[in-house]
Amino acid sequence: VWKNCLDFIQDNISNQAYKTWFEPIEAVKLADNSLSISVPSKFFYEWLEEHYVDLLKSALTKEIGRGARLIYVIRMENTPDKQKAYTEKIPSSQRSHVASQSVEIATKQKNPELKNPFIIPGIRNLKIDSQLNSNYGFESFVEGDSNRLARSASMAVANKPGGTSFNPLLIFGGVGLGKTHLAHAVGLEVKEKYPDKTVLYISAEKFTQQHIESVRKNNRNDFIHFYQIIDVLIVDDIQLLSGKKGTQDVFFHIFNHLHQNGKQVILTSDKAPVDMQEIEQRLLSRFKWGLSAELLQPDLETRLSIIQNKLYRDGVDMPEDVINYLAENIQSNIRELEGALISLIAHSSFSRSDVSIELAEQVVKNYVKKSKKQISIDHIQKVVSDYFQLDVEILQSKTRKRNIVQARQLAMFFSKKMTNNSLTAIGKQIGKRDHATVLHACKTVDNLQLTNKQFKRFVEDIDKKLKQS
Ligand code: ADP
Ligand code: MG
Repeated sequence: VWKNCLDFIQDNISNQAYKTWFEPIEAVKLADNSLSISVPSKFFYEWLEEHYVDLLKSALTKEIGRGARLIYVIRMENTPDKQKAYTEKIPSSQRSHVASQSVEIATKQKNPELKNPFIIPGIRNLKIDSQLNSNYGFESFVEGDSNRLARSASMAVANKPGGTSFNPLLIFGGVGLGKTHLAHAVGLEVKEKYPDKTVLYISAEKFTQQHIESVRKNNRNDFIHFYQIIDVLIVDDIQLLSGKKGTQDVFFHIFNHLHQNGKQVILTSDKAPVDMQEIEQRLLSRFKWGLSAELLQPDLETRLSIIQNKLYRDGVDMPEDVINYLAENIQSNIRELEGALISLIAHSSFSRSDVSIELAEQVVKNYVKKSKKQISIDHIQKVVSDYFQLDVEILQSKTRKRNIVQARQLAMFFSKKMTNNSLTAIGKQIGKRDHATVLHACKTVDNLQLTNKQFKRFVEDIDKKLKQS
């Protein structure tokens, strides 16, 4: 009977709500018209009553017929004597409905652990898949000057989640420098040290999707509640919440709840808090409550250790000069360094020969070419300013001098062409202009190129410079 009820329920609520609130329920027995189900805690019972009573009623009535009764049994799994407490539900005056009146709850018994109803032993039994990647532990994270602070802060947090002043812990730094790896490492370590703690890793992108979905399905409260019961919440690439006001609001809410309850929050971002665009001020100021630790570009020594570590783990040999060549030529991105290395290992195992320095050169060239699109707006502004021998501040200023306007427009044009930023983001960074100005700049540059030979020359020169850098 319960199985059929569950099927019905599952069809009517989100998967997440189902997992959170119905999977932990166990059917105990069915006698006459009464189905007993056991739930992990009083709180859980109250939540069900408050949010799902109609759904439960419908499911039960469908299965058992009118007059069906539901009896909640509250599990007390963590009580010292393992005693189970049973609670009988009395049908409400509306005969044909499943009862939903408050009843004698087991917590009224002398049970020291349950004095505060919000410290809920049962809820720990919720099985939440932490979404952690077991390859991203501390043991595979090579320490170096560029990551020492971030790494040790992460370890401190992992040892005492919620118990340090590093809350939230914000790990920030450029692409491919190990933010995601470090964030997983914290989560994995917490699970190792505190198996009872609920850890969840989620990308800000997925968080946003879930939020939108919850609004659409009308169960935003379940969504929020789901996040509020987590002990260690890791949100990756928080900069992706830029411009998403609704999701920021909900995150703000969840963040506050977790923080107030001594739960740990770990965030990563590819920008420092001061540089995060279109993130609400109140959220940014929360980020600064804890510790912001930056991952810098790895120095040569660290790059060498990362390569050696990887080779060691994979049990692969590689000539010394090739290792040095890789470490010297791929400087700014550990993901690319690893990518080139993996590609070399693949080549050598395919051709059953040692990796030659020539092959390494070829592979590195490919990698460096592919990474071109990671040019930043700042970099573009710098290159354009240098080209016209201007200061970046002048480029960003409000001046309407013709040559400066042109330089500014070129910076906007290339930012649109070579980065993934929105018109709004580009405008903001280039002297706080609006998106219409950027759009206009792009059109102007397109047109001028066709009519003005000298201007076309500028565009080509700058293009070349940007591609070289
Ligand atoms: P980010 O999230 O900053 O873009 P990732 O965490 O995805 O970067 O790291 C990119 C790759 O580089 C991953 O495969 C990661 O394991 C590796 N990596 C980064 N930093 C280190 C490090 N210090 N030691 C070993 N591997 C690292
Ligand atoms: Mg990442």
